[in-house]
Amino acid sequence: MTIHGWNKLIGHDWATATLAAAITHDRIGHAYLITGTEHIGKETLARLFAQALNCENEDVPCGHCRSCKLIENGRHPDIRIVEPAVSERGKKTLKIDEIRQLQRDLTLTAYEAAYKVAILPDFDGATIGASNAFLKTLEEPPPNVILLLTASDADTLLSTITSRCRVINLRPVPTELIEESLVTRWHTPVEKAQLLAHLADGRLGWAVNAAMDTAVLTTRQEHLALLHDALDGSRVTRFAIADKLAKKAEQLPALLQTWLSWWRDATILAQKEPSPTLSNIDEQEQMIARLPHWQKNAAFDNLKETDRALWALRRNANGRLLIENLLLSYPKQSVGAIR
Ligand SMILES: [Zn+2]
Repeated sequence: MTIHGWNKLIGHDWATATLAAAITHDRIGHAYLITGTEHIGKETLARLFAQALNCENEDVPCGHCRSCKLIENGRHPDIRIVEPAVSERGKKTLKIDEIRQLQRDLTLTAYEAAYKVAILPDFDGATIGASNAFLKTLEEPPPNVILLLTASDADTLLSTITSRCRVINLRPVPTELIEESLVTRWHTPVEKAQLLAHLADGRLGWAVNAAMDTAVLTTRQEHLALLHDALDGSRVTRFAIADKLAKKAEQLPALLQTWLSWWRDATILAQKEPSPTLSNIDEQEQMIARLPHWQKNAAFDNLKETDRALWALRRNANGRLLIENLLLSYPKQSVGAIR
């Protein structure tokens, strides 16, 4: 199947229709803010819009003309992508120097494109200094310059920035559409596609990445095995697991995310709704076997504890203490019978 044009982005028809119409009716805004959770398709949409604005063919974006190809490969001289720097713990920061450099670039005449486009992914990472510097460009943009910002949420940015952009909010892609797309476009086996679609929480980009990179599911399995061991284990076992994990501190954010998602599902199951919507569909049996052995609110309490631990970790808390405390807070009853 050949994929071309706006179809490259799956599940955001409203957004692509809005941008396509802006081009067709010559009502292009000078700045757009694309919001939505991580890996949902914000940057893909920004690149497609940049392609559509500069495509050499009638049916834009064609995806195969010289301009479209250059943009796809990040080599177009008039399209600037200003990525934030990423720290070891995954914190993204965009500094004022980057903005100043961009501003110098944007004042130069375009080499070949109709529009110069600046894409600024994860603008939530911009420092106050960078945001204020960028505000000047938003207020008085150079002619034929289009600014495309992305952020997880419009509320994370200065209102003076948001109010000068047209906001396009990308909503989670439906689970069924992710599953179907994985099978038809990326040739993922059905069972794997089903699991990934549920785990993705509406983030197609995450699911595609996980379908291509086997390490994603393998790592998840390891993290779940540790959780099962801890839940079955004594205090001593839990300390041993905490010790092992503390030595791999870089893994902790992903591990806690997996556990958080597990506890969220367990909480949903504990409420005994007729048709629960779970992410970890392959863990349902495990959870159902464990729940009766715990106190009534255990799943919800541990969901909160895990969320708190993840929050503290992002604020540079000591990883070892944090994981020890978390494991000791988990329910005590051993459920050897389910093994
Ligand atoms: Zn093209």
